[in-house]
Amino acid sequence: MIRIEIDDRSGFCTGVVEAVKTAEEILEHSGTVYSLGEIVHNAEEVDRLRNRGLKPINYEEFSTLQDATVLIRAHGEPPETFRQAAENNIRLIDATCPIVLKLQRQIREQVDAFSEDLGSILIFGKSDHPEVRALVGQSNGRAIVCRKPEDLDANIINPPLALFSQTTMNSLEYRRFQGTLKDLMRNRGWNPDRQLVIYHSICAQVSSRDSRIREFAAKYDLVFFVSGRNSSNGKILFEACKEVNMHSYFISSPEESDRVKLSGVKSIGICGATSSPQWLLTSLSERLSARLNINKS
Ligand code: SF4
Repeated sequence: MIRIEIDDRSGFCTGVVEAVKTAEEILEHSGTVYSLGEIVHNAEEVDRLRNRGLKPINYEEFSTLQDATVLIRAHGEPPETFRQAAENNIRLIDATCPIVLKLQRQIREQVDAFSEDLGSILIFGKSDHPEVRALVGQSNGRAIVCRKPEDLDANIINPPLALFSQTTMNSLEYRRFQGTLKDLMRNRGWNPDRQLVIYHSICAQVSSRDSRIREFAAKYDLVFFVSGRNSSNGKILFEACKEVNMHSYFISSPEESDRVKLSGVKSIGICGATSSPQWLLTSLSERLSARLNINKS
């Protein structure tokens, strides 16, 4: 008998759970509600909500919209979005995750604490990620986004420095980046103990999942990791699965599991990213059960 188990600690983080709940509540009383960007990096969940009336739009479409209701997803938005909405009579439903809101506030406070021309704000993250764009907006465009050591050399930075991280980055990589930054400061004659403040802004729900998912993935002959392909967190957690179990497969929909051979497999683990809904993991489990029963007969 083949064992199929779902990781009960996989699935949406609280920020996404709340954003989806907010969307569902508004949709009960409204016709079309727009979402500025996809509510979550998961096409299956975006389609489910689209069928209920939640329509994703991009920034260009947002700029031409008037007298409408628009949901702000968990990643948050820069101040410019709120200004544009007020001008165009757009009602915003703000579902920004409280953890992201706290990070936005810390960045604003840090900008205020630095004088106008002294001090650099660094954000360890991906410059094209919506959360990061919103964070840069909080700094009035002053923050410098860095991902690798070369990015430090490519930009003009002046002490004192404040370093933040996008909430979904890898903790180990963030620690390494901090070490590189401190070395660079020493090489330039600056003192990181006095001239650098580091914010530990990686979300605990992301960092704790790394070790948990390793524990889970190591227990099975084969692992299906379910995630949208554009999820940062999905990429990081899948790498963690692969490191402990070479028979780990990244899939975005249950149908994609059909191409993976299951002969000789005695146990299958199913897990996913913070943007993967539990219903999708369950649907994969049902598909695999059906497939294995068919194979057995
Ligand atoms: S990963 Fe953490 S910070 Fe980001 S939306 Fe989820 S709960 Fe909020």
